[in-house]
Amino acid sequence: LNKLHNYDVELATMLQEEQTRQEAHIELIASENYTSVRVMEAQGGQLTNKYAEGYPGKRYYGGCEAVDKVESLAIQRACELFGARYANVQPHSGAQANAAVFMAMVNPGDTILGMSLAHGGHLTHGAAPNFSGKYYKAVQYGLNPETGEIDYEQVEQLAREHQPKMIIAGFSAYSLVIDWARFRRIADEIGAVLFVDMAHIAGLVAAGLYPSPLPYADVVTTTTHKTLRGPRGGMILSACDDEALHKKLNGAVFPGQQGGPLMHVIAAKAVAFKEAMEPEFVAYQKQVLENAQAMASVFIERGYDVVSGGTQDHLFLVSLIRQGLTGKDADAALGRAHITVNKNSVPNDPQSPFVTSGLRIGTPAVTSRGFGVKECRALSGWICDILDVMSAGQSTDAIEAGVRTKVAELCSRFPVYTETRA
Ligand code: PLP
Repeated sequence: LNKLHNYDVELATMLQEEQTRQEAHIELIASENYTSVRVMEAQGGQLTNKYAEGYPGKRYYGGCEAVDKVESLAIQRACELFGARYANVQPHSGAQANAAVFMAMVNPGDTILGMSLAHGGHLTHGAAPNFSGKYYKAVQYGLNPETGEIDYEQVEQLAREHQPKMIIAGFSAYSLVIDWARFRRIADEIGAVLFVDMAHIAGLVAAGLYPSPLPYADVVTTTTHKTLRGPRGGMILSACDDEALHKKLNGAVFPGQQGGPLMHVIAAKAVAFKEAMEPEFVAYQKQVLENAQAMASVFIERGYDVVSGGTQDHLFLVSLIRQGLTGKDADAALGRAHITVNKNSVPNDPQSPFVTSGLRIGTPAVTSRGFGVKECRALSGWICDILDVMSAGQSTDAIEAGVRTKVAELCSRFPVYTETRA
């Protein structure tokens, strides 16, 4: 970044500040990851200069010979990776991929059924402030408070009662394996479209470590930057061999929702898909799962409630209701100790979504920097040490300082971006 630094010190300093934060803080936000340098190289190149409205072979601009090949390669790799018959790699983000699915599959005013934000669904699954809650009649399901599992009986009952045109499965915060077949049966019973948003688990699905929704869903969306470890972006997939459906989905992305695709990001997506087909990627995802289980078990051993009783994926939620702590305060205390998490609502949360009584903890990023079970268990212990002092109502200054020192030592042993990092 020499040229930028020489030209714009003000901005370059800010970029350096973020780079230092990523190296020196422990990242436990479940939706974040560290891409390879190869992904960043692809994204940082000349393709950012190219307009390519349309699709390979059918563009509205000249000079698309090379980018046509890039997009076709990304599509081919996405289909191979997920066993799909159709892929659209153009959505700029997960939310835009979801907006395109709504546009293709339902009409404004139609009823849709998705998981509520408070129980682990995403904003785009029918939450009131989002387009999905404003322009559609959104009915929401949640978790069974006894088991912490998706309340499939509630899904069934709401589906029968409200006859939604589309059912959405998928989540931003849920630690168990979803029964895709059961969702398919419910959708079939009422003749609804089944739309799965696998944004969080796409990397685990690609590695064959979480059941794939592709055989069950009419349409699947994902982001490419979470467990999949690619550039920020979205994608739409389908295992259905239905050309009319493919056409409808393509039309909903462009010209329906977007203008020119981000060709540099599509190139970076193609790199990430290639990486996800390597044996190292499967080993990485296995470690992500082991690390999440190791972290969750320490919280349980230390007397904290883990929603759903544990984890079968890359994340889990810690409920602090019993300790009388808020997610907001816990998030802030951990931040001061250089551990980044996010506050999250938990089932039956007495606090507002801005305050919450929970923390969401995920292992994709720490696993990318090389943490194993030993480091993850130690890390959970440090978090519990801070939470214990908070729940005793004492000052956390000393414990935060102690943990900050241990975090610094651990981060220096596991740098994110080294000279040899791919
Ligand atoms: N879908 C799910 C399940 C998510 O968790 C997220 C992001 O957190 C999105 C969609 C939206 O992705 P983006 O932030 O790229 O719009």
